[in-house]
Amino acid sequence: MTMIQPSPRQTSLIDAVRAALGDAAVTTDPGDIAPWLDDWRGRYHGRSPAILSPDSTAAVATVMRLAAEHGVPLVPQGGNTSMVGGATPPADGSALIVSLRRMNRIRSIDPAAGLAVAEAGVILANLHAAAEAEGMRFPLTLGARGSATIGGLASTNAGGTQVLRFGTMRGLVAGVEAVLPNGEIHDGLAALKKDNRGYDLDHLLIGAEGTLGILTAVTLRLYPAIAQRAVAWVGLADPETALALLRRLERQTDTIESFEIVSGDSLAQVLAHIPGTRAPLATTHRWHVLIESVATDPAAESPAALLERLLAPALADGQAADATIAASEAQAEAFWRIRDSLSEAERASGPAMQHDISVPVASMPRFMVEAAAAAEARFPGSHATAFGHLGDGNVHFHVRAPAGVDPARWYAEDAPGVTRFVHDLVVAAGGSISAEHGIGQMKRAELARLSSPARMAALRAIKAGLDPYGLMNPDKLLGLAESPPAP
Ligand code: FAD
Repeated sequence: MTMIQPSPRQTSLIDAVRAALGDAAVTTDPGDIAPWLDDWRGRYHGRSPAILSPDSTAAVATVMRLAAEHGVPLVPQGGNTSMVGGATPPADGSALIVSLRRMNRIRSIDPAAGLAVAEAGVILANLHAAAEAEGMRFPLTLGARGSATIGGLASTNAGGTQVLRFGTMRGLVAGVEAVLPNGEIHDGLAALKKDNRGYDLDHLLIGAEGTLGILTAVTLRLYPAIAQRAVAWVGLADPETALALLRRLERQTDTIESFEIVSGDSLAQVLAHIPGTRAPLATTHRWHVLIESVATDPAAESPAALLERLLAPALADGQAADATIAASEAQAEAFWRIRDSLSEAERASGPAMQHDISVPVASMPRFMVEAAAAAEARFPGSHATAFGHLGDGNVHFHVRAPAGVDPARWYAEDAPGVTRFVHDLVVAAGGSISAEHGIGQMKRAELARLSSPARMAALRAIKAGLDPYGLMNPDKLLGLAESPPAP
């Protein structure tokens, strides 16, 4: 266990927080802190002498005001499921973690208005359950839903598997309550349909990855619960065919909510590493798609009948090589479990560089194939594959290290070159090096390398304006070098 002594400033801040908020708001036991120091992929290892855990907006404001007075940097943390090391504290122990996990109340659910107000520490799966109990649903989900929090999801503008229909978190947030770095509270929870009071502070804070303040609560849009759903698993030849199938379906129905592409190789990784998983089709294919169709009206044509009707011609003319529609809810869950386990299976299969990238949707099929071939040719022995949100033009493009390499050496020496290579291809294709995971510490240097001077100058000016001493999540997004020194 990596222990670290607090600096005199940190000790003074910890004492002040304890005096103001009580012992429950401060954790200094290294054993209790340890699980929150590494990122989900195990690539970043931080150190911090304390976790501060305020349980109300006023308590967060107290923490922020005291931290500003003491000049101590803070790292906001929700479920710590960031894919880019965004919630991992710096390795030098200079920052304290602020956990929002005690702020886990759902303040209200209003089915008539289609709105819920959830505190930042509410776990996504708990919000799903609470909305369902009211006949509603919150239509954003992802593999980490059992741990990821509303504050983390909003702060990363998370996507997931329903973006095709509902957009990213930004489109599902109707208002934000946050504490700014000086301890002042921004109350933007009112769900105004129209509001043109200049710069949109809510949207500045969404996707800011905790670098401009701490979200304490969020107003979220809810939709009527699903009455029926069907999940199909389709085998086909290549990503081009997959996108053509999506377009074909979309011309005939507006009920397609998810359309996820999975390579044969990614499926094999899941079957090898995730206990209890089985291939949905008896036949083997180079590519697959998982399709979910839903109906909110119980009297509507059943989604299973609809998918069967729409997929039949695709099977007949060879666009789809094989297909199966889940015969039960348990089987639908089993198909989704494969999709949701892709990252975990990838993690278990050895060192790999993951790139969460987007290009224009129409270009994605070609990009997936050509970029994979280019990466494998450039890095002999590596294996490149991509999976994910094809309909959003967003895939997770993984380059696995050659078999038998030492992970530590590969990550230190080869991986940066792999990432630069992939990102250069993405930029050449007019895409983004972060589609949904954010920048965190993993992509900080790449953001600076690949962004225009105008963009970087504007980002730095916003950061300097709201957080002049660079105390909020200091080594993320823009990095320490760009922040003015602490007082
Ligand atoms: P953390 O990891 O704790 O924090 C993430 C960032 O937000 C950090 O920069 C942190 O400082 C900041 N932050 C956290 N809470 C607050 C707050 N209250 N105020 C201000 N800043 C805050 N992401 C997707 O977009 N789509 C996916 O499909 C997807 N699938 C995933 C699957 C798996 C298995 C895993 C492990 C992750 C996946 N992710 C995905 C990434 C991750 O779940 C999201 O980034 C999620 O939004 C992070 O939520 P969290 O509560 O864990 O935040």
